[in-house]
Amino acid sequence: MGDRKTQVVICGGGAGGLEVARRLGARYGRRAHDIILIDRSPTHVWKPLLHEVATGSLDANLDEVGYRHHGFRWGYRYFLGSLSGIDRAAREVILAPLRDEDGRELVAEHRIRYDWLLLAVGSVTNDFGIPGVREHCLFLDDREQADRFRNRLLNHCLRVSRRLVTGLATDDEVRVTIVGGGATGVELAAELFNAAAGLRHYGLEVFDESRLRVTLVEAGDRILPALPEKLAAAAHAELEALGVRVLTSTRVVRAEPGAIVTAAGERIAGDLQVWAAGVRGPDLLAGIGGLETTPLNQLVVTGTLQTTRDPRIFAIGDCAFLRPAGSDRAVPPRAQAAHQMADTCFRNLVAAMEGRPLRPFRYRDRGSLVSLSRYSTVGSLMGNLVGGRMAVEGRLARLMYLSLYRMHLLAIHGWLKGAALILLGHVNQVVRPRLKLH
Ligand SMILES: Cc1cc2nc3c(=O)[nH]c(=O)nc-3n(C[C@H](O)[C@H](O)[C@H](O)COP(=O)(O)OP(=O)(O)OC[C@H]3O[C@@H](n4cnc5c(N)ncnc54)[C@H](O)[C@@H]3O)c2cc1C
Repeated sequence: MGDRKTQVVICGGGAGGLEVARRLGARYGRRAHDIILIDRSPTHVWKPLLHEVATGSLDANLDEVGYRHHGFRWGYRYFLGSLSGIDRAAREVILAPLRDEDGRELVAEHRIRYDWLLLAVGSVTNDFGIPGVREHCLFLDDREQADRFRNRLLNHCLRVSRRLVTGLATDDEVRVTIVGGGATGVELAAELFNAAAGLRHYGLEVFDESRLRVTLVEAGDRILPALPEKLAAAAHAELEALGVRVLTSTRVVRAEPGAIVTAAGERIAGDLQVWAAGVRGPDLLAGIGGLETTPLNQLVVTGTLQTTRDPRIFAIGDCAFLRPAGSDRAVPPRAQAAHQMADTCFRNLVAAMEGRPLRPFRYRDRGSLVSLSRYSTVGSLMGNLVGGRMAVEGRLARLMYLSLYRMHLLAIHGWLKGAALILLGHVNQVVRPRLKLH
């Protein structure tokens, strides 16, 4: 071994992984240990912003973080690549061949050695195997998909606007069906109205929110099951006031080109159909490297966030499954959980490398906040802290919702740059266009 550096490999630079990479890089990078971040994308966009990217309310080019530059600044090395396997005997991760846009191979399949490995590759939308969903619905799993949604939305808006201007139609509209009444579906529905209201200022002179028909379909008997009933009812009423058709207790059995079909036989036609009905781990995780995984492809971890069959491999965020001792519920797939796990995981990786005992992860449910764009924000705070829930609405809830992203900025950029970016965000709200239209 000689003076070979200890190598820590982090797969996935999202809400959880990027925080760990920054903190390990700042502590050890370029000196004692080699910290390596692998992500299949060259830039990071905080996932909870994707519905705003999808509607054009947010320009991801302004908010994305380039891993190469971030790694140089914080002392970790970044590799573009997609994890495809783990060789635990050799302690190597296997990266899939890297191809260009035309499918030509740029870099052959290769391996990277690790002494300690962190898996933080997030989740994908769960289609529950329902026929047609993969083929005929859009998802909001990454930046590319959000961009695709926005381009299609704008094309439909443009088509309707031109038909109205030229007199080819008088009652044309853009129909969007969203399946899933959780936070993602609800936030997207409200954000669509905000975006549509802005379009008339940007050249689509006859298009506005009255031309939008949004249907939100939920299988459960109410939307936002993570929130107390009173708040979910307030959000439901707010959505209906905007013009959203909210269907609860409605199960989708099939998706077709241009429509989804419900168990009751209703065919809901849509120009755009978005599937946002829950998440699961990516397929590649199923039994990866012989590690224990759940039927939903999540890696089962112990209280210290190490995988059950290999203490050298940690997992955090949406791709990890942890049911804390004494709890009947698993840690939910949320940004706040990824952030909290990143903190414990960083400390535990440091402790493991320095031969100290590891500490157990304790999830603190800070509650949930759901933004109905500029129209309203609802949420509940301090879930398990006060033994009940404290309802918040309006400006206070909005401020708290925004603070989640600010905390993420501080966590990945440090105090100085993080604060500067928060300030810049305020300036951008004034100087940049309200919508991204390309
Ligand atoms: C529209 C939307 C709104 C949301 N709103 C909220 C909210 O308001 N509050 C909240 O708490 N949570 C929210 N969430 C959930 C939250 O985004 C996730 O729980 C959180 O991002 C999980 O963090 P993570 O680090 O596990 O994964 P991610 O942040 O998804 O990061 C995973 C990373 O892994 C990379 N990756 C994936 N596969 C591979 C591979 N094979 N090889 C290499 N790299 C790979 C990805 O490129 C990505 O960078 C929202 C999610 C969505 C989609």
